[in-house]
Amino acid sequence: RGGVGAMAEGTTAAGSRPPPDVDTDDCLGEYRHLFSPDLLAGQVAFVTGGGSGIGFRIAEIFMRHGCQTVIASRNLQRVSEASQKLMAATGQQCLPLAMDVRQPQTIVAAVDEALKEFKRIDILVNGAAGNFLCPASALSFNAFKTVIDIDTIGTFNTSKVLFEKYFRDHGGVIVNITATLSYRGQALQVHAGAAKAAIDAMTRHLAVEWGPNNIRVNSLAPGPITGTEGYRRLGGKFAEEGRQFDTIPLQRAGNKTEIAHSALYLASPLSSYVTGTTLVVDGGSWLTSANNFPALLGIASSSAK
Ligand code: NAP
Repeated sequence: RGGVGAMAEGTTAAGSRPPPDVDTDDCLGEYRHLFSPDLLAGQVAFVTGGGSGIGFRIAEIFMRHGCQTVIASRNLQRVSEASQKLMAATGQQCLPLAMDVRQPQTIVAAVDEALKEFKRIDILVNGAAGNFLCPASALSFNAFKTVIDIDTIGTFNTSKVLFEKYFRDHGGVIVNITATLSYRGQALQVHAGAAKAAIDAMTRHLAVEWGPNNIRVNSLAPGPITGTEGYRRLGGKFAEEGRQFDTIPLQRAGNKTEIAHSALYLASPLSSYVTGTTLVVDGGSWLTSANNFPALLGIASSSAK
């Protein structure tokens, strides 16, 4: 393909050069602000799934821009350890809370606790999700339902609780983390693709209904992102070694900081007139990446070994 490999390491044009990142659930060793460091000063973000992967990095980048955060997931120890790292690296407050997005009463309790602590919540990031590779024929009824329960219904439950408890009267911003899986019917992903497509629909419905309350609702759809559970489970390393990312227009996987920067854009006044959209952050991946069912089935079984 024309242009492939045209840019040697270190000469990548600034506009597509990835920021540094670390693959573990740790804060960045170095960070250079591209946006104003006080972009989210005085604000509070509630991040589901904020104890790991993409959600952790979103919490970190928000905190590096003056935001305080609540990170919530099922495993209290995980979010507690994450909050210690986040506070040490950024100097901002981070409240870890246990919550299951499938159980509305646990969300109500967590949001009450967050409001008691911070008196406000400005931003909700719905990042909690579950995923794995599986052909539809081998997917149990329960496995399909579980993914819909966590991703789709969990996003609705959390958004509704935040709306009732705070956003209805004060406005707010919701960023739903979705995926590009449904755009081309990605093989082995009927469960997650269907769940995330429903969230993209929810984004538009809620943007319409809640816009008059000064609530903006958008989706952010990442491509393959290094240093995440998703990347490990969905065979990212295997695809990397097999040079499959050469088919991605930008020729590489993305990193967590790149997703966090896009979430920062959507959560901040930089996108004050943006609502009801999906921001795809995938290096152009969904347009060109492999979707050959038998071939991907082979990769899935090899990468699971
Ligand atoms: P991850 O680290 O596994 O993040 C998922 C988080 O969701 C975990 O922190 C988990 O914490 C939490 N969670 C799961 N079930 C929950 C529940 N019932 N209630 C509350 N929290 C729950 O994976 P990730 O790869 O960074 O993914 C983050 C988001 O990006 C997901 O929405 C994913 O679909 C999306 N995404 C990722 C990629 C990728 O390449 N990684 C690509 C496209 C989209 P607990 O186990 O403690 O509950």
